[in-house]
Amino acid sequence: MTLDIRQDVPLALLTTFKIGGKAKYFVDVKSISEIREAISWSKTRDIELVVLGGGSNVLVSDSGIDALVVHILLEGYDFGGGDNGVCAGVNLLSTIRGASDATLGGWEKLAGIPGSVGGAIRGNAGAFGSEIKDFVTLVRAVNANTEEIKEFTNAECNFAYRHSYFKDHPEWIITDAEFMNLRGVDREESLNLIERTIAEREKRHLQNVKAAGSFFMNPRAPRHVQEMFEQEKNTTAREGRVPAGWLIEKSGMKGAKVGDAMASLQHPNYIVNTGNATADDVRNLAMEIKIAVHEKFGVTLTEEAAIF
Ligand SMILES: Cc1cc2nc3c(=O)[nH]c(=O)nc-3n(C[C@H](O)[C@H](O)[C@H](O)COP(=O)(O)OP(=O)(O)OC[C@H]3O[C@@H](n4cnc5c(N)ncnc54)[C@H](O)[C@@H]3O)c2cc1C
Repeated sequence: MTLDIRQDVPLALLTTFKIGGKAKYFVDVKSISEIREAISWSKTRDIELVVLGGGSNVLVSDSGIDALVVHILLEGYDFGGGDNGVCAGVNLLSTIRGASDATLGGWEKLAGIPGSVGGAIRGNAGAFGSEIKDFVTLVRAVNANTEEIKEFTNAECNFAYRHSYFKDHPEWIITDAEFMNLRGVDREESLNLIERTIAEREKRHLQNVKAAGSFFMNPRAPRHVQEMFEQEKNTTAREGRVPAGWLIEKSGMKGAKVGDAMASLQHPNYIVNTGNATADDVRNLAMEIKIAVHEKFGVTLTEEAAIF
């Protein structure tokens, strides 16, 4: 055993929310063999295993996580050398920049989404009409129950809006992926587009707040709700979905607070930790928001953030 498994490791600073208690057991893993070691360690002791990537889409409970938290730090990518392989722990923005350096792109609109490549695949991260599913051609993952390593084609990943096979099957730990759907680009133009995308995000979204991004997914809504949204915003509701932020605002919950957790005034679908919010504050505010939106529109919001 070469792994450094630590006990009672604080998790808050490993998340963008800056909330939550300790991991009972915690390990940084840098290779597939270390993931396998962590799996067998947890299996031998009958301890649950939980995966943490960049921590930008998780809410850790105040009492912490009674499990072995496996922090995915598999690093490295190889663009232009064949399969455009990327390890799951690489930061998504660094990956997109790395591809541009190798004159490969097309996915610059994903630049600025925080977190790791593994986390992005698991949640089919997207922005400005692009989703990671449009670029990934193969995902490799290891099964935490059987230790089987499997390659998933794009179709087998079952991607949909903020969804993938891996979301329904958390026993699969994504180790790396191939991105053969990138196209040849001019390096400077691609890097410029990345910077413009980040600037656009900073204008539209809150980037440097203690939050997990959009807390709820944009739900499918009844036709009359879609029409209200379309008339007000002079746009079409894509796939029958309306923005959760709009529903939250129209339900009077913009700016609502529980403790130090607040539905942001600029982007009501961001629940922001304005100081020392607890996970319970966030959960209670989320519950109040869900009730208000359901009462007003008959629509049920579903959390995008993973809650541990
Ligand atoms: C300011 C801000 C802006 C954001 N903007 C966007 C946006 O525009 N679009 C968007 O889609 N999202 C956005 N997000 C949400 C978040 O960045 C994405 O969901 C991101 O892809 C999560 O990746 P992560 O590595 O941080 O995952 P984590 O938060 O670490 O984990 C999220 C979930 O994925 C699982 N997971 C992580 N790594 C792996 C792996 N290797 N294998 C299997 N499961 C894994 C975890 O177990 C957990 O269930 C934003 C978040 C913030 C804080």
